[in-house]
Amino acid sequence: MVRGPAQAATRAAASPDPAISMPANSRPGPVVTRIAPSPTGMMHIGTARTALFNWLYARHTGGKFLLRIEDTDRERSTEAAVQVIFDGLKWLGLEADETPVFQFARADRHRAAVEQMLARGAAYKDYMTPEELDAEREAARAEGRVVRSPWRDLSPNDAPDRPFVVRLKAPLDGDTIVDDQVKGQVRFQNANLDDLILLRTDGSPTYNLAVVVDDHEMGVSHVIRGDDHLNNAARQTLIYQGLGWDAPVWAHLPLIHGPDGAKLSKRHGAQAVSEFADMGYLPEAMRNYLAKLGWGHGDDEIFSDDQAVEWFDIAHVVSAPARLDWDKLNHLNNHYIREAEPARLVALVVPILESRDWKLKSTDAALIERTIPLVRDGAKTLLDLADALVFVLRTRPLELPEKGAAMLTEEVHDRLTRLRDDLATASDWDVPALEARIRAFAEREGVGIGKFGAPLRMVLGGGSPAPDLAGTLVSLGKDESLGRLDDALSLVR
Ligand code: GLU
Repeated sequence: MVRGPAQAATRAAASPDPAISMPANSRPGPVVTRIAPSPTGMMHIGTARTALFNWLYARHTGGKFLLRIEDTDRERSTEAAVQVIFDGLKWLGLEADETPVFQFARADRHRAAVEQMLARGAAYKDYMTPEELDAEREAARAEGRVVRSPWRDLSPNDAPDRPFVVRLKAPLDGDTIVDDQVKGQVRFQNANLDDLILLRTDGSPTYNLAVVVDDHEMGVSHVIRGDDHLNNAARQTLIYQGLGWDAPVWAHLPLIHGPDGAKLSKRHGAQAVSEFADMGYLPEAMRNYLAKLGWGHGDDEIFSDDQAVEWFDIAHVVSAPARLDWDKLNHLNNHYIREAEPARLVALVVPILESRDWKLKSTDAALIERTIPLVRDGAKTLLDLADALVFVLRTRPLELPEKGAAMLTEEVHDRLTRLRDDLATASDWDVPALEARIRAFAEREGVGIGKFGAPLRMVLGGGSPAPDLAGTLVSLGKDESLGRLDDALSLVR
């Protein structure tokens, strides 16, 4: 039975609990963190943030970051769904330090742990029939208590020959305290926790059992995950006690909410890591952004992975839900697009252009690479960057959009003809030389650049947005620039 925190848990009073002797965030031995996603077919952005925090903490402490695929739901856990997780982590640059552990394959280990618990008297076989269980549920509801099995106190010698589940023999009184690094001490009344099923009648292990056995055997020292698992932490604490094992350090992260403060859902736009990738966000921008969702280092907005690793501490995670802020994400992405090596951006933007049916020639990569520095300042995403590059890829003869033809009045036409002839004599074809040439031309003509700049850009870009004049000319190169001018000038007159 799953109970909301309001029913099951209360935050403990400030006084430290005598049961907790060791400082909660320290445990002997190396730090081992993990991400334990269930393959659902998509990797949620919250899972990405959880992975990042685990990765940061492992790196910060010189520990290890592990991956466990919780694939016990056999229908959903297809190979493709598992691959989505591998791909998501790879794209984010958060790959695990060891080969992944698959939970389903470890069922024998889970059952062996239950044998230990039975031997220790920490678990019991419950032979209630479905009808008896229904009646007990009914009675428990009427009496306002949790379900209890009579087999808790009956001797195994009286066991009938029929199917049974194995239940945890949980304490009836007192409290279970989850001493959480983010939430503080959270107290659960044991009277509200029923005897959790560990093995079903078919011998299959249940979720909380599997998590505890796997975390213990993987050596996980710190469980950092979404706070939708806080109630499970109480259950799992009891299982650790039943097995006589030390519980890990807990840190339950507040969930990510949409900009309006409601839990992140479809209507807020993207939720899956792959959607953010498809929308043209860079992984380093996502890491920087996700690190800021629930953690921060003073007012620092932009920081490198190395800085995040140096500064990160679970103790600084805030307990209020974090809100997704598209403006901030766009701002960061723009920053990292401006910082990225142009050659890398070429490799990222070419598939986007190809998906828009641009048939690229082998020479286009070089063209795109030299154009990127001229157009990337305004790009919030790689999709924006692709938009800004289109002008350079058009092939002659360019069509002149209607409003473009209207701009080429006789006066402008004549002036652009004179400019074309002037440009034809240029030997230096770089931004400073062309800026100076255009300025000098405007002076000779006795007009401001504004008088011919817009029609010239329109002619050169074939109606697509193009960067400033000199930049556009440099990107296109001399021959292409003059050719595009010739095309437009001959079209109109
Ligand atoms: N498999 C769980 C999930 O995807 C995570 C369990 C855990 O981190 O303990 O939400």
